[in-house]
Amino acid sequence: MIENILPALRQNVAQLYSNLTATHCLLCGEIGENDSLCVDCINELPKLGKSCPRCASPLSHSLLCGRCLHQPPQQNSSFSLFEYKSPIDRLIADFKYNDKLFLSRFFAVQMAAKLKTRPLPQLLIPIPLHPRRLRERGYNQSLELAKQLSKQLSIPVCSKSVIRIKDSQPQTSLPYKERAKNIQRAFKVVNTMLPTHIALIDDVLTTGHTANSAAKIIRQAGVNNIEVWTIARTIRHY
Ligand SMILES: [Zn+2]
Ligand SMILES: [Zn+2]
Repeated sequence: MIENILPALRQNVAQLYSNLTATHCLLCGEIGENDSLCVDCINELPKLGKSCPRCASPLSHSLLCGRCLHQPPQQNSSFSLFEYKSPIDRLIADFKYNDKLFLSRFFAVQMAAKLKTRPLPQLLIPIPLHPRRLRERGYNQSLELAKQLSKQLSIPVCSKSVIRIKDSQPQTSLPYKERAKNIQRAFKVVNTMLPTHIALIDDVLTTGHTANSAAKIIRQAGVNNIEVWTIARTIRHY
């Protein structure tokens, strides 16, 4: 009797073990070799097409957008890999709020594949969180992404060059007109030995006020080439 049950039991245990150790695509559930998403789902992600080189706004061409011609932001250039829409919005929310920190590696690998063909900055600076928000969330998603980009591109990362001195409200909770004021004077440069070319790292570029505010004080500290790198770019809705 036991002899009959044992092989079946062994098979069940083996199946259970392989289910536990297999990696399932976060979007379709298929078992795959990639650690987060299967190849088919990666290929279907909404890549940002032509966009303004300065602010990464999606456009039908790759020249400066009207807004950047008229009132350029503080950064010299912006890079976003995806458009901020489904399913990227969901993946970023998982990364940011649901402790799926392993997604930082996935996003960094995808971003680095594009970034390594261009002249690279000397230092990566993650957009800092205010200490109170950092205590609440437990980690800064921008720093986690910067660390992974640092590994992929062999560029040092420094999370102590720029600090957040104002506990501003989350930008997403405010109407567009109040966002610029909310983030004004929110950052401070504490390292005055910055190189001349840096990249600011954040998860999403939305109105651009946060990146602009950080880039402004970094420029005042003597940096003359500032890039803004984000996983995704929202489509302008103002
Ligand atoms: Zn999939
Ligand atoms: Zn622009």
